[in-house]
Amino acid sequence: MPFDTDRLMARIDSMSEDLIQLTQDLVRIPSLNPPGELYRDVCDYLDKRLTRHGFDTQMLRAHGTPGDCDKYPAWNIVARKEGSHPGECIHFNSHVDVVEVGQGWTFDPFGGEVSDGKIYGRGTCDMKGGLATSIIAAEAFIAEFPDFHGAIEISGSAGEESGGYGGVGFLAHQGFFSPQRVQHVIIPEPLHKDRICLGHRGGWWAEIETMGEIAHGCMPFLGDCAVRHMGAVMDRFEKDLFPAMAARHTEMPVVPASARSSTMNINSIHGGQPECPEGSDALPTHCVPDSCRIVIDRRYLAEESYEDVKGEVTAILDDLVRTRDSFSYNLRELNHVPPSMTDRQAPIVTTVHRAITEVLGTTPEYVASPGTYDQKHVDRIGKLRNCIAYGPGLLEMAHKPDEYVGIQDMIDGAKVMAHSLTQLLLLNEAD
Ligand SMILES: [Zn+2]
Repeated sequence: MPFDTDRLMARIDSMSEDLIQLTQDLVRIPSLNPPGELYRDVCDYLDKRLTRHGFDTQMLRAHGTPGDCDKYPAWNIVARKEGSHPGECIHFNSHVDVVEVGQGWTFDPFGGEVSDGKIYGRGTCDMKGGLATSIIAAEAFIAEFPDFHGAIEISGSAGEESGGYGGVGFLAHQGFFSPQRVQHVIIPEPLHKDRICLGHRGGWWAEIETMGEIAHGCMPFLGDCAVRHMGAVMDRFEKDLFPAMAARHTEMPVVPASARSSTMNINSIHGGQPECPEGSDALPTHCVPDSCRIVIDRRYLAEESYEDVKGEVTAILDDLVRTRDSFSYNLRELNHVPPSMTDRQAPIVTTVHRAITEVLGTTPEYVASPGTYDQKHVDRIGKLRNCIAYGPGLLEMAHKPDEYVGIQDMIDGAKVMAHSLTQLLLLNEAD
């Protein structure tokens, strides 16, 4: 090889204090989502740091996207460092929002305390630790190889935990993930340092409403109970839909393995009169409910089509229209995200595969995520298929009390990322 990766690896080792401090600084900004707080503070912090290291930065507010408002503006930052020769661009994207704290913490959730080789706090694992790791990797690489080819981008984006529409979705619509601008994308979500996440299952969310007719509850035969109609829907789901979904298996390496089948959650059910407000001890009135609604969360496999997923639900509902007296329904689609799977032969996959093998001396595992993440926007809007999630941290720690990220895992992850940069941005040097 025409360059010395040993020095690069040693440089990353020597930056471990900086890596810890950077992670702590980020964790100490409680950028909670909801409501979408302090995104600008995180972006300002990243702006200072990255401009000091020679990046050009842009601050972009995703005006008018879900959640963006003057009180909680959806700020994003995109930082770019050009090399000295033309070449390809590798982009590291991290979301800067963290989920609510929840109960059960023994550490200060926004303290960034170091204990036993780990940094504790909300967002350490998901995913400020990953963000810090990618920054250290890029800075070490630039310091060691200032004459690199192409460009490195680092973005901090808003609102991934609520769909990323004001974050990567917005940036992709602005052209930031078009294949002309960016060729390789790594999202340092906490999939762990020896795993490459190729993509995620699809999701289809819908609300189903059954209709009835209101009447006095003492004479239900004079009305038509919408909740009983919904009971018939759920019965068919239990008898037909759930067994059919459980029998389907995907080739996608989804973890946990139980998510390699199709799944559906019933997120909520509402029927009849609203519950009394808390503190009220009023007794309910007696009415036959004329409406019942459920929200379904259907996760589907690369082998299934959107049309089939939707079609098997409407087939059950239409069958009930034919066979059940006075049954009628409304179906309203709430959201749809197709599955995303990057090919194992894609350049970013083979590059990171080799980096993990050489840096960690282990064979990486390919995985896919049961739920969606920002790759959906890179794929669908950006039309860029060369994207993976790779970052330190254990997925099981995400959103948990006493969330942590391992310091050595971050260092190892930074080495893998920096090694990947040498493969993508230096190898052309002989040309
Ligand atoms: Zn995340």
